[in-house]
Amino acid sequence: MFPKFCLGCNKEGAYLCEDCRGLLDISEYNYCLCSQNPQIIHPNPKICLPAGRQGKCNRCGDKKLSGLYFALPYKDQLLAKKLIYQFKYQPYLKDLAKTLASILIEHFIKTGKNTNETWAPGGVPAVLVPVPLDKKKLKIRGYNQSELLANELAKILQIPVLTDVLIKIKSTDSQMELKKEERKKNLLNAFSIKKCGTSDVPHFLGKKVFLVDDVYTTGSTMAECAKVLRSAGAKQVWGICIAREG
Ligand SMILES: [Zn+2]
Ligand SMILES: [Zn+2]
Repeated sequence: MFPKFCLGCNKEGAYLCEDCRGLLDISEYNYCLCSQNPQIIHPNPKICLPAGRQGKCNRCGDKKLSGLYFALPYKDQLLAKKLIYQFKYQPYLKDLAKTLASILIEHFIKTGKNTNETWAPGGVPAVLVPVPLDKKKLKIRGYNQSELLANELAKILQIPVLTDVLIKIKSTDSQMELKKEERKKNLLNAFSIKKCGTSDVPHFLGKKVFLVDDVYTTGSTMAECAKVLRSAGAKQVWGICIAREG
């Protein structure tokens, strides 16, 4: 076993020590999908009245994604960036999935989302679905970071994970260098649903789907996945990611 060192202060023991964890700005709020003008949805209705059960403002009503949960702001947060970077790139710290899942759980508790109302409203079955990687990327990394994160969340939330059903069928160019419109085009028809046997109940029909990814940037990826999941019968599709950029 290799010793672990804190990514914040280098102290031996864990990838994130308690002191450095305390420095993270874990959000107490939920925000709307529109990043230019984020609408804070505070759990206390006296502070901000959420628009019904929707996780978004009226202007975003037509979007396929029902809402987004993210625990950390990404911009100007060196430690948050470092945690996510090392989770995905060399030295590929897969174990960070546990730390990052616990940060998300803390966010859910802070925002009062640790209730059945969020995870199984009216008995609607919920399922966690990691945003898939294309084969090329999976081969390079050897694992899908979103899947590891979804598995850790599943243990705590007691919700099943459905992997390899939502699949990425098109290898897309790296999104990093692209503008928002180009990203959308790049991802068009990149995702698909693996067909289940004719006698099976379709995987997503009537379910509340929680899409899991590491970072939310322009939202093109989640929007495209949500479109596919909704057309496969998902009742709602919510996003969960560790951090939001922009
Ligand atoms: Zn530390
Ligand atoms: Zn909005």
